[in-house]
Amino acid sequence: TISLDQLTGWLTRFRDLVTEQVSYLTELDSAIGDADHGSNMTRGMDAVLGKIQASPVVAVDELFKGVGMTLVTSVGGASGPLYGTFFLRIGTSAGPVSTLDAPGLAAALRAGLGGVVARGKAEAGDKTMFDVLAPALDAFDADLVVFSDISSAARAAYSAAQAGRDATAPLIARKGRASYLGERSIGHIDPGAASTSLLFQALAEILD
Ligand code: ADP
Ligand code: MG
Ligand code: MG
Repeated sequence: TISLDQLTGWLTRFRDLVTEQVSYLTELDSAIGDADHGSNMTRGMDAVLGKIQASPVVAVDELFKGVGMTLVTSVGGASGPLYGTFFLRIGTSAGPVSTLDAPGLAAALRAGLGGVVARGKAEAGDKTMFDVLAPALDAFDADLVVFSDISSAARAAYSAAQAGRDATAPLIARKGRASYLGERSIGHIDPGAASTSLLFQALAEILD
């Protein structure tokens, strides 16, 4: 299982990772976007951690609905509504509980992916955060079937996330700002794919 404290730790670690890698995320977005993905993610996650500290929560749905709302309202770019919807749907799926078991976490993450797709209409190979989220969740589920261990599943998800991130480089962007570049988007890792890989790094680390 994963507790409310560990889920808060996940968000805290994600904030720390995007902060450490803010220049890298900005560099990726300057190649195929508008050079704000690093600042969008740090601004959003700083606001999220500020809200968590200001108003402690007692249930998983409350935590993630707050996270989602904060991201939607504090981040102007595409990533605000996309990550915001991801976390909002995680909250809705989890419900008013204080822990999630591994299948519950898998289901919540899967609901989050559904939110990203509902918002952004991305498909596999469009060179977006979907190309990390979808394979990471597939790996989480597959590992869980074999080992029934949440830490192992999170490590498997992170491995798949890194592979998914790197596999965005040769793709032509078909969604978001990068799609305006057409073939000139080839050869660069998608910034949202990179930040989403950090989300799974944070989860694997917090569950280790
Ligand atoms: P903006 O592009 O508005 O400046 P960001 O730079 O913060 O916003 O985020 C860009 C990232 O958002 C992209 O790298 C991509 O991963 C993701 N993205 C953009 N559009 C979509 C979409 N329609 N579906 C899924 N992800 C998307
Ligand atoms: Mg941008
Ligand atoms: Mg922007």
